[in-house]
Amino acid sequence: TVRTRFAPSPTGLLHIGNARAALFNFLFARHHGGEFLLRIEDTDKERSTQQAVDVIFDGLAWMGITPDETPVFQSTRQARHTEVAQELLAKGLAYRCYCTAEELAAMREEAKANNLPPRYNGYWRDRDPAEAPEGAPYAVRLKAPRAGETVIHDLVQGDVTVANTEMDDLIILRSDGTPTYLHAVVVDDHDMAITHVMRGDDHLTNTFRQAMIYRAMGWDLPHFAHLPLIHGPDGAKLSKRHGAQSVVDFRDAGYLPEALCNYLLRLGWGHGDAEILSRDEQIRLFDLDGVGRSPSRMDYVKLAHLNGVYMREADDVRLTDDVMKRLENRAGIATDDTVRQRVLTLMPGLKERAKLLTELADSAAFLGRHVPFDYDAKALKQLDDAGKATLRGVAEAMALVEPFEASQIDSALRAFAEKHALKLGQVAQPLRAALTGSTVSPGIDLTIQALGRDEALARIGAAIA
Ligand code: GLU
Repeated sequence: TVRTRFAPSPTGLLHIGNARAALFNFLFARHHGGEFLLRIEDTDKERSTQQAVDVIFDGLAWMGITPDETPVFQSTRQARHTEVAQELLAKGLAYRCYCTAEELAAMREEAKANNLPPRYNGYWRDRDPAEAPEGAPYAVRLKAPRAGETVIHDLVQGDVTVANTEMDDLIILRSDGTPTYLHAVVVDDHDMAITHVMRGDDHLTNTFRQAMIYRAMGWDLPHFAHLPLIHGPDGAKLSKRHGAQSVVDFRDAGYLPEALCNYLLRLGWGHGDAEILSRDEQIRLFDLDGVGRSPSRMDYVKLAHLNGVYMREADDVRLTDDVMKRLENRAGIATDDTVRQRVLTLMPGLKERAKLLTELADSAAFLGRHVPFDYDAKALKQLDDAGKATLRGVAEAMALVEPFEASQIDSALRAFAEKHALKLGQVAQPLRAALTGSTVSPGIDLTIQALGRDEALARIGAAIA
């Protein structure tokens, strides 16, 4: 069976490039009826933090990417990494290297002077360890093949070949006894029976070195698929200055997880002209054939548009919950159950106009304002003498509407406008100003229903006072 994994290092944020790799691995496993696993690569004790682990768990859960087995923490597997290194030593496929930091630095200098890439020269490869000083610390290096070439049949990049002379004897155990990252990944992927490794193409060079470890151990290589990176809209590597780049950034900025997932999937993977795909469709259609080879460009405008589409489809209770959370700590905005009910009632109108949850919260905030409140400049203009006169009349009409629902409210407002030879807008705009403090809101009838009769009348009263 197909087994894939996502193997993030918990050293910072969950970058969307990584999140997309997680999504691809997850969809690929589901598509093939296999398993998706999570491995936290926390061997770098200095840089790994619990907070970053939490960010990974929360981010994946938010995106609906759930591992099929208990996550593996790489740091717990050190004894096994060491055991494999010892086995390679015992078989003569690895050796102890006693070079000091100074000697290695000198080697690098020499390579540089000869215009060669920095490389270990194999000093201890065939030397008798007895030549080393008593008790000297040593690293364990793999004996890399010195001739021939290594070919990776990459499922996205095609066949990629590197001459073995390009590669030196890589360290698998450091002199302090800790396994190197390249070694740990290979041992873990093997032990976790991973069949397909999908990751960013910045790891492609690592793959050739990892292949040497697989071959030395006589293990089958998994299939590899190296995914092109995500660039910013200008084609440069995606960075902070482009905007949101981590999953948490996108959540805070007001994106729905299914919109982000849909976008990330379509970014660099295509299936005909299908744009909007449910998770079930994603699972049914995803395969590596559709993954492109060139870097994709993040298009924030397109993503926001897609988010708007998803928001209009989203459940009103869910959107309301999100909005209430975003409003919670805003100065001067109540978030009690009454306000929540208003937001829920108005949600069908609110979500028509917003692309982001943050915009949705902004547009809902007026529902939690306390009377009296300030009016913006445009609203003030509506509250001139004529506007106030209109509001007085409307207040009387509103007192009589029964039941107090949008359709009845609408009829009453139309009747009022007709009676006074006013256009509906001439009634609606002063009302909007009085009720919201601004001149934009969803349909005035639904807005009034959402506020409820008492609150609407209170707000009108404050405006004409
Ligand atoms: N831990 C690596 C990273 O976060 C990924 C390793 C892999 O996928 O093989 O970049």
